[in-house]
Amino acid sequence: MTDRIIRIADPGRLKPLPAAGSSSWPSGATSDTLGRKLHDLRISVTDRCNFRCIYCMPREVFGPDYAFLPRSELLSFEEIERLARVFAGHGVEKIRLTGGEPLLRKNLERLIEMLAAIPGMDLTLTTNGSLLAKKASALKSAGLKRVTVSLDSLDEQVFRMMNDADFPVSQVLAGIDGAAAAGLAPVKINMVVKRGVNEDSVVPMARHFKGSGHIVRFIEFMDVGATNGWRLDDVVPSAEILRVIDKEMPLEPIDPNYPGEVAERWRHRDGSGEIGVISSVTRAFCRTCTRARLSTEGMLYSCLFATAGYDLRAMLRSGASENEISGAIARIWRARADRYSEIRTAETAHLRKIEMSYIGG
Ligand code: SAM
Repeated sequence: MTDRIIRIADPGRLKPLPAAGSSSWPSGATSDTLGRKLHDLRISVTDRCNFRCIYCMPREVFGPDYAFLPRSELLSFEEIERLARVFAGHGVEKIRLTGGEPLLRKNLERLIEMLAAIPGMDLTLTTNGSLLAKKASALKSAGLKRVTVSLDSLDEQVFRMMNDADFPVSQVLAGIDGAAAAGLAPVKINMVVKRGVNEDSVVPMARHFKGSGHIVRFIEFMDVGATNGWRLDDVVPSAEILRVIDKEMPLEPIDPNYPGEVAERWRHRDGSGEIGVISSVTRAFCRTCTRARLSTEGMLYSCLFATAGYDLRAMLRSGASENEISGAIARIWRARADRYSEIRTAETAHLRKIEMSYIGG
């Protein structure tokens, strides 16, 4: 089973850096071959997680013998900060820390302080919420702006079956409350919907958070990685999700907050808040994708569904200058042509893609 896992540093999983055409790379907004600007950076700070969500890190693959990355392989906080500053020079204004479970990375508050000091940077984090009640106020003090908390059901049995680590719903709800109390608001709540598993949890979830000020986003189950056994039949289309919610709680569409926003926004017609749907399977949004991803061990990926990446850590650790790193990032982004979700088929679903826990969700 473990042969299905893609080790990032596997030979053949690394792309050669595009050749330098200039010795000097001015910073500033950088666009790819489809005119998409580099605007967001997702950073996976650990490949470890204390959940074993069946659609992300299935226990039969990520079992007790699974070898996570040794510490020396991870980017250090100083390396992450250095790269983040170079990315900022190319137009990145938003960083999301993710993983794995980012709150498992020791002293994460220190990294947050370092990244929050980059002028104009919007800093957010995605978490399973298990440690959030304890850490929310320290995260806020360190400079974190908002959090997204993953929660796949309010039904205890369904949630425990999906996280496969016996975590109770109450602990995640306490994390959401703690985040809101600390001012990490509005809190977004991500629910991945998988056919036959938690579709009955959609309406209760929308009902529970209606009027709370938090924003639930329903995500179509995606074929990320190579281990989650994805089938198109397991996807609950967001149109269906909207239909069932609208039946009980009438909805109307609202404009995106900014171009390229991942979730389509809908508000409750009675004025009691909004929900979102993320339709990466049924309504692909590659055309507006402005996201780069930095893996736990410092590979740069230009798509969530990538099968290979660029080794920025090797550049960092071989003494490359700021200008050389900046040039490499510019060349990679300018050559970018990814639009996986638009060309997805049953066949592409079986490509050996990098696992979500490395590449960062
Ligand atoms: N551990 C953190 C968490 O649970 O939020 C951050 C990492 S997790 C990989 C980031 C997000 O990706 C979560 O909201 C998770 O539900 C989502 N995710 C993971 N696998 C997915 C899949 N196959 N399809 C859709 N979303 C997925």
